[in-house]
Amino acid sequence: MRIGPFETDALMEVAARPPLVFVEGSGSWLVDHRGKRYLDFVQGWAVNCLGHCPPEIVQTIGAQASRLVNPSAAYYNDASIGLAQRLARLSGLERVFPANSGAEANEGAIKLARKWGARDKRGAWQIVTFADSFHGRTLATMSASGKAGWDSLFEPKVSGFPKAVLNDLESVRRAIGAETVAIMVEPIQGEAGVVAAEDGFLRDLRDLCDERELLLILDEVQTGIGRTGRMFAFEHAGIRPDIMTLGKGIGGGVPLSALLASERVSCFEHGDQGGTYCGNPLMAAVGCAVLDRVSQPQFLDGVRLREEHLSRKLQELSQRHRLAGERGRGLLRAVDLSRPLAAQVVDAARELVPEGLLLNAPRPHLLRLMPALNVEFEAIHRMGELLDRALTAALTS
Ligand SMILES: *Cc1c(COP(=O)(O)O)cnc(C)c1O
Repeated sequence: MRIGPFETDALMEVAARPPLVFVEGSGSWLVDHRGKRYLDFVQGWAVNCLGHCPPEIVQTIGAQASRLVNPSAAYYNDASIGLAQRLARLSGLERVFPANSGAEANEGAIKLARKWGARDKRGAWQIVTFADSFHGRTLATMSASGKAGWDSLFEPKVSGFPKAVLNDLESVRRAIGAETVAIMVEPIQGEAGVVAAEDGFLRDLRDLCDERELLLILDEVQTGIGRTGRMFAFEHAGIRPDIMTLGKGIGGGVPLSALLASERVSCFEHGDQGGTYCGNPLMAAVGCAVLDRVSQPQFLDGVRLREEHLSRKLQELSQRHRLAGERGRGLLRAVDLSRPLAAQVVDAARELVPEGLLLNAPRPHLLRLMPALNVEFEAIHRMGELLDRALTAALTS
């Protein structure tokens, strides 16, 4: 496709993308190749938790790049030690393996659970996961996922992921067998359309895991690092997982993820796990800067204030346009349009002039909003005006 001076054909065509090319960003705003500005409520899919090009990340990358980029994962480096210490302190899970993507961290969680099962649970290896869940795009994490349409892709799948239904404890009990080693769940199913596991359900899963000697694996790739108004979503339920994965927000936009485990469960031996870039100082240093900012109590108070503001704005719009309401936790929110027009609203919002609005439609009837955690109140207000216009355009045409 030709877009202004750009020819895109050299890129593998793996997603339908709008005909524009982003060239710069700052805070909540992106700028395309023609100079048009967009208010960004996608933020790299809940990734840029401090917005585009925030000063602490720009400064950290510059300083770390000129000091040490990659001595190899075969050696210790100061930044990855600092990252692991911060994550262990914040989560209460004592052991950390830094990686590069959410899928890679989840792949590691699956391997760790299987290793623990082989060592401590008579070879148990199956992991109960959930319908409509999303855990990534490697072969094992696609197999673990319950995403509609994926069951027939890239056969044969990795076996051993029986599916249960979210918030249905009986379905989990039914999926557990003699070979089960763990239950893996997202505290909020983001890709499924911001569908929350109830706090009581997470507590029941914790109890069930304790009773049956299973590991509770939480995929907090989307919900972790302040997204829900707490550092980790599991804090709302007052539980602690045995294994947790983080991604997205932890790097504030750079490729960084982490696999965390309690000391009891952390059983990898030399050679079991690794990766050329795992724990590289350039990304680890950014992770430290992000954590130092997000873990400040005032910062998380700010996320909850923004949550109230955004939620109220979306409720107003829902009433005005006769939609089916809004939901979510913290700054991971969805608006139910009650009719399958989400793609049209997303297009209309992006095409507004002089400024566009970027939104995501995870389901045909659903809009998802994932602004920066430090999004300005003024930007939330502006989003409301732009979404109002986009809804009018899409729903009345
Ligand atoms: C995005 C996401 C992943 C995959 O992360 P990648 O970095 O794209 O590999 C896994 N789990 C959840 C819950 C996610 O939202």
